[in-house]
Amino acid sequence: MLYSRLRPLLPRLMPLRMTSTEACTTMKVKQLNLLEETLAFEDPKAFRVKRFGELLRALGVFHLCSFPVLVNNCGKLMMISRTILGRRGFSMLLRPTVYAQFVAGENESEISQSMEKMNLLGLRPMLAVPIEEDLGESTGEKRYDDNMEAMLECVRMSHSNAWSKDPMMQLKITALLSPDLCVKLTTIITQQPYDLDLVVKAMDGEPVDFPGLDEREAAHFLCGLHRLNKIAEASVNKVRVLVDAEYTYMNPALSLVTMAMMKKFNKDGVWIWNTYQCYLKESRSLLLGALQISKEEGFCLGVKLVRGAYMDKERKLAEKESQLDPIHNCWEDTNVSYNGSLDVMLKAISQKPERYRIIVATHNEESVRKAAKRMEELGIDKDGGSVCFGQLLGMCDHVSLTLAKEGYAVYKSVPYGSVDDTLPYLREEI
Ligand SMILES: Cc1cc2nc3c(=O)[nH]c(=O)nc-3n(C[C@H](O)[C@H](O)[C@H](O)COP(=O)(O)OP(=O)(O)OC[C@H]3O[C@@H](n4cnc5c(N)ncnc54)[C@H](O)[C@@H]3O)c2cc1C
Repeated sequence: MLYSRLRPLLPRLMPLRMTSTEACTTMKVKQLNLLEETLAFEDPKAFRVKRFGELLRALGVFHLCSFPVLVNNCGKLMMISRTILGRRGFSMLLRPTVYAQFVAGENESEISQSMEKMNLLGLRPMLAVPIEEDLGESTGEKRYDDNMEAMLECVRMSHSNAWSKDPMMQLKITALLSPDLCVKLTTIITQQPYDLDLVVKAMDGEPVDFPGLDEREAAHFLCGLHRLNKIAEASVNKVRVLVDAEYTYMNPALSLVTMAMMKKFNKDGVWIWNTYQCYLKESRSLLLGALQISKEEGFCLGVKLVRGAYMDKERKLAEKESQLDPIHNCWEDTNVSYNGSLDVMLKAISQKPERYRIIVATHNEESVRKAAKRMEELGIDKDGGSVCFGQLLGMCDHVSLTLAKEGYAVYKSVPYGSVDDTLPYLREEI
């Protein structure tokens, strides 16, 4: 009826509709062009907020980082300097230079000062307790309990200080659960997949039988799960916990535990997040698998999307064990993988922003621009909470500051602790 009344008007309305569609498209193209210009990351004004001394320090540190011989041997060089200069001398050398560039401070008052400054610049801190553990470094429960206390302290600091709206922190599972057990679990679950509910039950303190583990291993697994449970309980509804990805020989175990935490704590919000390393050939299928499981099991999924930090070690190991290289053949392939997975997540978010979240954790300007452009095309809010960006403290401030100035949510991954505590982190991550 209404249609028949309108019908005579339709031919006259059609051109109007066409022009409005064209106008819309033209406006969208203009907006996207503007976005490309503002996110060119070439505006030196981004550095106006930095003091001259800070710029000079960054220039010096990054100049040193441009010598491959120094970067490739930085671990050895640091150990030699520490032996020659002693603990105090080494600390005096590192504190005003590399440490000040990449680490927030040693105690809460130093950390607070750095965080308040960051807050004024529109950046949000994502605290990281720098603990690097690898095979053969397994220690007793006491050490893992101490690490748990450090993480609980990190939850408290992230939550109780008004440094950032919607605080986040990073968590390394191998700081709470022995890397050797994670390797064993990985071997077991590749042959016989574990039921998520089994792990959730164990977290809840129910008696469970872990297939493939002996009594000592099962007892340690249970202690590790209780530690993780305690941290998740302390952080839920307060601080978002982003679990780090590590090496391929233990990642499946880390993901199993993280998924179990998601199943338990992400029913109505994204509190526990997992990390996906796009340098891995299997990264897309891992991400699609996680999306599928989150749908089937009814939990929300948080994704930290990174390229991956352990390329050289992964490749050396694969070669030594005559295995297929798990890493993409070249940087370009990793980029395609990263940008593709980014698109998968942004599409999912545009459909269900309350179920999925992503942190685009990269310093790569092209990926950042791609993310911003897709957000615009898909109508995702810059600061709606479901998409944010992440860079490491002291790195690519021009990217972080420009994004923050344009109204995006930007987190800086912030390690803290003494020079000695942060040394392994500085060796691995920088
Ligand atoms: C907030 C934050 C959290 C992070 N958390 C983690 C984590 O949990 N786990 C983790 O592993 N890393 C983590 N990283 C580090 C990250 O994986 C990268 O190592 C780092 O960010 C550099 O990658 P990019 O995208 O920033 O820069 P780009 O310079 O664009 O890319 C460098 C990366 O590309 C890849 N690449 C380089 N050359 C090749 C090649 N020849 N073939 C294939 N790939 C190549 C490598 O992954 C390399 O690190 C994190 C980074 C940030 C910013």
